[in-house]
Amino acid sequence: MEGNYANIIVDISHEKVDRAFQYKVPASLKGIIEEGMKVQIPFGRSNKIIDGYVMELTDKTEYPIDKLKEILDVSKESISVQSEQVRLAVWLKRNYGSTMIAALKTVLPVKEKVRAVEKKSLSLNIEKEQAKELLLEFEKKHQVAKVRLLNELLENDKIPYNLVTGKLGVTGKTISGLVEKQIVNIQVENVYRNPVKLAEANFRNEKKILTKEQQAVTDAFKKDYEAGEEIRYLIHGITGSGKTEVYMEMIDQVIAEGKEAIVLIPEIALTYQTVVRFYRRFGNLVSVVNSKLSKGEKYDQFKRAENGEVKIMIGPRTALFTPFRKLGLIIIDEEHEGSYKSDTMPRFHARETAEQIAGMKHAALVLGSATPSLEAYYRAKVGRYQLFTLKNRAASSYLPTVYTVDLREELKQGNRSVFSDRLREAIADRLGKKQQVMLFLNRRGYAGFISCRACGYVVKCPHCDVSLTHHFGNKMGKAGRLVCHYCGYETAEVIRCPKCSSKYISGFKAGTEQIEQKLKEEFPMAKVLRMDGDTTKRKDDYEKILSAFSNEEADILVGTQMIVKGHDFKKVTLVGILAADLSLGANDYRAAERTFQLLTQAAGRAGRDKLPGEVVIQTYQPEHYSIVHAANQDYESFYEEEIAFRELAGYPPTAHMLGIFIQSRQEAAAEEISKLLAGQCKAIFREKRVLIIGPAKASIEKINDVYRYVIYVKHKEYNRLVEVKDFIESVLEEKKDAVKQISVTFDFDPMNGF
Ligand code: ADP
Ligand code: ZN
Ligand code: ZN
Repeated sequence: MEGNYANIIVDISHEKVDRAFQYKVPASLKGIIEEGMKVQIPFGRSNKIIDGYVMELTDKTEYPIDKLKEILDVSKESISVQSEQVRLAVWLKRNYGSTMIAALKTVLPVKEKVRAVEKKSLSLNIEKEQAKELLLEFEKKHQVAKVRLLNELLENDKIPYNLVTGKLGVTGKTISGLVEKQIVNIQVENVYRNPVKLAEANFRNEKKILTKEQQAVTDAFKKDYEAGEEIRYLIHGITGSGKTEVYMEMIDQVIAEGKEAIVLIPEIALTYQTVVRFYRRFGNLVSVVNSKLSKGEKYDQFKRAENGEVKIMIGPRTALFTPFRKLGLIIIDEEHEGSYKSDTMPRFHARETAEQIAGMKHAALVLGSATPSLEAYYRAKVGRYQLFTLKNRAASSYLPTVYTVDLREELKQGNRSVFSDRLREAIADRLGKKQQVMLFLNRRGYAGFISCRACGYVVKCPHCDVSLTHHFGNKMGKAGRLVCHYCGYETAEVIRCPKCSSKYISGFKAGTEQIEQKLKEEFPMAKVLRMDGDTTKRKDDYEKILSAFSNEEADILVGTQMIVKGHDFKKVTLVGILAADLSLGANDYRAAERTFQLLTQAAGRAGRDKLPGEVVIQTYQPEHYSIVHAANQDYESFYEEEIAFRELAGYPPTAHMLGIFIQSRQEAAAEEISKLLAGQCKAIFREKRVLIIGPAKASIEKINDVYRYVIYVKHKEYNRLVEVKDFIESVLEEKKDAVKQISVTFDFDPMNGF
C-alpha cells in the first residue's frame, strides 16, 4: 500500500464521532503521515484551514480524484492527548477487529449533553473605597438587600451565588442590576463532579512499614524507574500478601516525579473498602470510574484527569483510557480476571492494551495476581516481564488447611447428598463455635457437560480436548446429542459410562437455590444468605449481601464465583467448594486454569484474621492436576502442567487463537456464510499452516432468534491471525450487499466461549 489517500475525521469531541472525509496525501508528505496523526486540511466550501485526525491510509477511493483536496501539513502540536488516543484506536482496530468508529468510541470519553455542574460566584468589580461610599448611599436609601450584599463582599473577595440568593435574600434581579452597573462581577466555573464521596475516609497519608518481600519489589521499582528502564513487572503474590500496599508505594514514587497513574481493578473487586484505602493514602488526587457513574460523570472524571486535577484513576478496564498527559504507571490488579477482556467490539484485552499504552507513553506496567494468567506467567518465563513473588501474608495470619473430598467415594458409601460427611461435620462445628462459613458453587462457564459420578469420567471432544456440551432431545423423539463447540464434532448421548459402565452419568443439576434449601433442612438454626445472579439483580444488591455477611447477620453465605472476591470476612473459618468439577467441565480450553484460579481464590477467603481457616474441596476428579495443585497451593506445578497442555494442543498463550462469530436471524444464511468464510480461509491459509476449525454451531445456538456460528483459527503468530481477519473483512466488504443481514465479529485469544 502506498497510502495515497487518507480518511480524516475532523471532530472527535462530539457525541457522535463525525464521519470521515477523504483527502489526497501529497507526495511531500508520503511516508511522513501516519494513522492517528493530527493534520491540517482545507475544509468546507470556504476551505477554512482546520485540524483533523488521520483514521486510515488507503489506496482506494470512491471519489473522482480531481475532486479530492490535499492535506496541507502535519499539525504543529501533533502529539496531543487526542492524537495519542486516535493512534490507540487505530491499534485497537487493527489488532482486535472492529470499525474505526467503535474503536474511537472505546478510547474517547463520550461527551454527552450533560454539562459540567456550574459554580457561580460574585465579587466586587470596583475598588473597596468606592464600594464603601456606595454602601453609605444604599443605607441612606434603605436598600437593605444591596447593603447586605456589599457588606458581605467587602469582607469576602468571593461569595457563592447561591449563598447570596439564599441566605442573604438578595434577588436575582437586584444582582443583575448591580452587574449591569458594573459594581459586581459574576464568575462561572465548571465544577467536575467528584464521585469519591468519602466524608468519613479522612485523608491520612497512611503508610505501613513494608515487609521484606514487599520492600524487594518497591526497591527494584524505584531503581528501575529512576534509571528510566522499561518496567514490565508481574507480581505473583498470594491473597493477603500486601500487593495493594506495594502498588501504593509505587504510585507514591510516580506522583512524586510529577507523573500520573492508572490502577485497574475488576469491577467486582472494586469495593468501597478498596477505594477508601487509596483515598486515605492519596486524598483528592484519587478518582474512580465505574459502571455506576453516568456517562456525564465519567466524562467529568476524564476531564479532571486531563486537567491534572486528578493524578490517580482507579477503575475497571475502561479506566485504561484516562487521558492523562503525563502517565507514568499502569497497574493491573487481579490481572487474570476475565473481565479485563471486553465483550463488545473491539474485544480488546486490558493487559495487551496496557502494554501498548505503556509503550506509547513510556510508562511502567505492573501486573499483580495471586493466580497469574497463563499469558502473564508465560511472558515472565520468556523474559518479557520481570517476576516478583510474595509468598507470605503481610499481616500475620495463617494459610488455610485444604482437604479434598472424593465424591465418588461418598457415592460408594451411599451418601448422595450435596454435602460430604466431612463438609457436613465442619459446618456443624463452625455453627457451634459461632464462626462463619462460605459455600461456593463455581458454575462459571458451566454449559451442561456430562460426567460420571461413579468414576469422574468427563465426555470430551477427541479433537479439541474440551468437554462436550449436552444438547437435550425434544419431545418429538429427537435424541439428545453431545456437541463440541470448537470443531462441531457430535456424538450420541451416553447412557452408561464408557469407562466404568455406571449408569450415574449425567449433567450436574444442583444450583445455589437447592443448596440453600438443603442447608435449611439440615441446619434449621443457621441463618443463610444466598448470592447469585438472581439475588443480585439490582446494582447495590451485591454490596448489601456482602456487608450483611460481614456484619455477621448470617452464619452461612452460599453463592457462585461472585462470593470469592471483595470483602475480607474476619470470622470465616470454613470455605466449602461443593463441586469443583463444575468449572472443570466448562467447554473451553481455559477450564483447568479457571478452576485452579477459583479454588485458590476461594481458599484465600478462609482464615483471613486471627482464626485459622479450613477449606473443603468436593470433587469427582480429585486426581486432576488443577485440583491437586490448588489444594497444595502450588501455582508453579500447575503452570508447568497447564502450559504443556496448551503447547501440545496449540492453545494460547503458546499459540494464538481467533474466534470468528457469525450471527444472523436467517439460519440458512448464517450457515452458508460461515461455510463460505471457513472454506475460503482454508483454501488461502492452509499452506501458511494456519489451522481453520469449523464452522460449528455456537455453544448457545440461538439467542433471541439470532442464529450463531463460530469458526476458530489457530496459529503460532498473532499477526497471521490478523491477516485472516483482514482477509475476512475484505471478503465481507466485497459481498457487502449479500451479507447485510449478517454480523461477523472477531475475538482474539478468546476468554469465554460463544
Ligand atoms: P493483597 O492485595 O495482596 O491481597 P493487601 O494489600 O490487601 O493484600 O494486604 C492484606 C492485608 O495486610 C491488609 O489488611 C493490609 O492492610 C495488610 N498489610 C499489607 N501490608 C502490610 C504491612 N507491610 N504491614 C502490616 N500490614 C500489612
Ligand atoms: Zn464412570
Ligand atoms: Zn472439537
